Amino acid sequence: MKKILFWGGLVLSLLSCSTRKYQNTQDLINATVWMQNSGEYKALTLQAYQLAQLRLTEILKSKDITDKPRAIVLDIDETILDNSPYQAYQIKNHKSFNQKDWNSWTSLAKAEPIAGALDFLHFAKDKGVEIFYLSNRYESERAATLTNLQKKNFPFADNEHLILKTHQSNKEERRQKITERYNIVLFFGDNLSDFSDLYYYNNNGKTAAEKVLENPKVFGRRFIILPNAMYGDWESTLYKKNMHKKLRTDQIKINSLRDFKK
Ligand SMILES: [Mg+2]
Repeated sequence: MKKILFWGGLVLSLLSCSTRKYQNTQDLINATVWMQNSGEYKALTLQAYQLAQLRLTEILKSKDITDKPRAIVLDIDETILDNSPYQAYQIKNHKSFNQKDWNSWTSLAKAEPIAGALDFLHFAKDKGVEIFYLSNRYESERAATLTNLQKKNFPFADNEHLILKTHQSNKEERRQKITERYNIVLFFGDNLSDFSDLYYYNNNGKTAAEKVLENPKVFGRRFIILPNAMYGDWESTLYKKNMHKKLRTDQIKINSLRDFKK
């Protein structure tokens, strides 16, 4: 069983790498312009963190069901740090995602905080809630990531609270590890797989949208989602489903659309 899980994980990791390289930079323009320039995007992230603060206040008032200390778990990219300058670089240089350019960006340690994140995280810290950053950045990016978080004054920005990718993108094993010692009361992410294994690459035959609608009440209560129109599983899943067709990415996206006459 373990072996099957290992090879399954490996195939999914390879698929995930190969789909990101098909990214068409034309597709990224509107999303990146929206995230860098619109007031709406900033308002949405502020809204997410301000409502999270109300929710955390409510949680802290309720009776604790375990002896474990309370913690919250956050993804990093497009959840607490803004990487849109990297996407802008891709667009302007007509480049697909590649690890080398990504590393050049993260090694600068100058990503700005997502609006609302810092105020909320300092509130959580002041209330005695521990904070873990759970990211699929690589261990080779650890030093620069920590420097970035520290420079921008993120609380708990230390090795113990920064959990990076080891052998798989699926975060479930790493979430379980935190759960051994902490009562995780809120999760934050821009991708559904930041919350639960249930959403990881549509692994039970249902679409992500179907799974979200099946259990809508977890959003805003236990899972706080941040908007990300630039990239994510919502996009890579489409490419994976159509891999054998050898279509351009824009055509794959157009084919997925439902118009009002069909
Ligand atoms: Mg992310």
